[in-house]
Amino acid sequence: YQANYAPFKDEKDEKAGIVMVLQDITERQKLDNMRKEFVANVSHELKTPLTSIKSYTETLLDGALENKEMAEQFLKVVDSEADRMTRLVRDLLQLSSLDYKQVKWNKKDYDLVKIVKNSVMKVEMTAKNKSQTLEYISQEDSMPGYFDSDRIEQVILNIVSNAIKYTPEEGQIKVFLECKENQGIIRVVDNGMGIPKEDIPRLFERFYRVDKARSREMGGTGLGLSIARQIVEAHNGSIRIDSEYGEGTEVIIQLPLEEKVV
Ligand code: ADP
Repeated sequence: YQANYAPFKDEKDEKAGIVMVLQDITERQKLDNMRKEFVANVSHELKTPLTSIKSYTETLLDGALENKEMAEQFLKVVDSEADRMTRLVRDLLQLSSLDYKQVKWNKKDYDLVKIVKNSVMKVEMTAKNKSQTLEYISQEDSMPGYFDSDRIEQVILNIVSNAIKYTPEEGQIKVFLECKENQGIIRVVDNGMGIPKEDIPRLFERFYRVDKARSREMGGTGLGLSIARQIVEAHNGSIRIDSEYGEGTEVIIQLPLEEKVV
């Protein structure tokens, strides 16, 4: 608790007592800690690729450049680390504009069936390269709603890409789309590595990953799910995750199919 106090006087201008305000600062302290943790995370995430870029360029300048094969290999690492930093900065900028409500939503009447089909098509090759089956399953021909189609596509791409990333070769990924009580329900189900129960509640936190090394190796920033949640919530929808460790994961996105609210 934080205490603020001041004396107060009566009508004869004589001291009559003290007013004391006790403020519960646990909430504020929590926010402060979260902010500190976030800054520490960002610094760490940016420093890791920078350290790697720096050490490879130094080795190149120290003579590794003479060995063409080695030089090429080093430059590939530098290139991919620079890509990682680009992805991270892009995600951070998007999160910050979502936080400050600076996103200009381009919501229009759109067909959810088209958005989901389109997203699945875009990652078909990625699944194929891992010999996985990726299926789109729906009875619906069209599901009109009011969305920012690029942002919703971004969410679905992110979730399906996660399913592909965290499922081993020859695994199965299914994307279901159905309509229930004027809600579009998208379910992405995989039979991959799954998530331990205790990690599930924290998945939407920024930079939270079950296995940091693995996520980095796969090119992840650890920000995808928190961005996805903000986008879905900006459409008055919800997103949740069910998972069985070692068995598979299911991500459920619910989006209201309401008409444009004028
Ligand atoms: P990342 O960039 O690390 O993939 P996300 O925010 O998209 O970040 O996801 C956070 C974490 O959730 C991942 O690091 C991973 O541990 C876990 N995760 C997400 N989707 C799946 C999935 N389909 N199967 C298993 N783990 C998953």
